Amino acid sequence: MAVNWSKQFSSYPLVTKTPECAATVVRVGDIAIGNGDFVVMAGPCSVESERQLLRTAEAVALGGARILRGGAFKPRSSPYAFQGLGVDGLKLLAKARQLTGLAIVTEVLSETDVEIVAEYADIMQVGSRNMENVSLLERVGRCGRPVLLKRGMVATLEDLLSAAECIAVNGNLDIILCERGIRTFETATRNTFDIAAVPVLKAVSRLPVIVDPSHACGVRNLVPILARAGAVVGADGMIVEVHPDPDKALSDGDQSLTFAQFDEMMRDLGRYIHHASAGSWCCGAQSGGHA
Ligand code: PEP
Ligand code: MN
Repeated sequence: MAVNWSKQFSSYPLVTKTPECAATVVRVGDIAIGNGDFVVMAGPCSVESERQLLRTAEAVALGGARILRGGAFKPRSSPYAFQGLGVDGLKLLAKARQLTGLAIVTEVLSETDVEIVAEYADIMQVGSRNMENVSLLERVGRCGRPVLLKRGMVATLEDLLSAAECIAVNGNLDIILCERGIRTFETATRNTFDIAAVPVLKAVSRLPVIVDPSHACGVRNLVPILARAGAVVGADGMIVEVHPDPDKALSDGDQSLTFAQFDEMMRDLGRYIHHASAGSWCCGAQSGGHA
């Protein structure tokens, strides 16, 4: 069967590739995402304390991360679980940025928080549970910061591009897409990592694409090999969870790497990042389709 992705996704003119615009590079300070480098965003699932955040920031910066992740407003599966430190968490992220030079990515849960999160964040994360929250998408479209848009748990790639278009049409073209695993019938992993999403999105969309191997599998021992897979298929980077003491984490400890595991993963990735030829594959796929 012939596949014509460009046609399938043609209703999203601001985020799909066109002859005039083949690719967007998202710039955050001196960091370029979508320009050939594999940019690593790392840190705890949640900001828990000053000591936890600063220790992690220092460790991931030394290991080669350029951007610190950490949720201050947390979308939890249970209303009784830790909900995040809120604005105090944002202040700790700003302190970590000042001490390490890392840029900050953090989630914005609600349209009423967009302004305050944008005051502290370098990149606004829209999480899976909010990918189809149109009022939030419209609001981050006007926030003046790049947006990290995570794929919804039951969203097709077309749904993801439609959400990205909603941000773009409100004036913000600085969007990074993130494959973080989808819900399937499989229960051995927390989600099912849709690795093909990366080259498909790279072929049809002009936006940078990163992977989240932590949420994709839910168990820390699988994270490095999935990160490697992401690098090999041409992702522009990844977002990954790291914690000083994962067994004591207030959220997502099972999937958080120790500092030693993070370092080892980063050393391993070095062998794959510069040799991946997926970029050239994408150009071929875009022009022709296949049988
Ligand atoms: C997170 O990054 O911690 C998170 C909640 O991710 P997702 O929205 O992909 O579940
Ligand atoms: Mn998490």
